[in-house]
Amino acid sequence: MDVMLEPNNVRMEFPSRPENVAFARTAVAMFAAQMDFTLDEIDEIKIATSEAVSNAVIHGYKDRVGIVKVTVALYDDYLEIRVEDEGVGIEDIQRAMEPAFTTDPTQRMGLGMVFMKEYMDKLDIRSEVNKGTEVIMQKSPSAGNRETAE
Ligand code: ATP
Ligand code: MG
Repeated sequence: MDVMLEPNNVRMEFPSRPENVAFARTAVAMFAAQMDFTLDEIDEIKIATSEAVSNAVIHGYKDRVGIVKVTVALYDDYLEIRVEDEGVGIEDIQRAMEPAFTTDPTQRMGLGMVFMKEYMDKLDIRSEVNKGTEVIMQKSPSAGNRETAE
């Protein structure tokens, strides 16, 4: 597609090091700020982004460092965030999304996906075992987007 016709978007790729979670969260929030989100909504976007990126780091690439891809795009009336890994994948997505379900009960609460669902308008998770996982999240500003042309 002609790049001029694409919605404004940013693509990031980084190794699955825990210190990059904060980078991704802040970068997505900075980009999202072009839309008319409230500060509370920006905080929700930050939390959902960190949860998705943390999952790629912690679960996707459990015993190794791999590449995490984060794409964020501004459509007319919503923001879309994609977080992808090429890690272990999720066997049962429905079950993974249940509140308090975790494959690591000694260390984790199993709430990451609950937050993503709660804080974003739309959450779509696609995954294949040993291929990887893609989390697609969308959110519209509650005030409606009054993005001004530059
Ligand atoms: P918390 O987010 O509260 O620290 P958690 O990460 O275990 O705990 P969720 O984020 O809700 O909880 O994820 C639920 C489960 O889904 C995880 O325990 C893990 O088994 C699986 N999962 C989530 N994301 C991925 C991923 N990117 N790759 C592989 N498995 C994943
Ligand atoms: Mg999690």
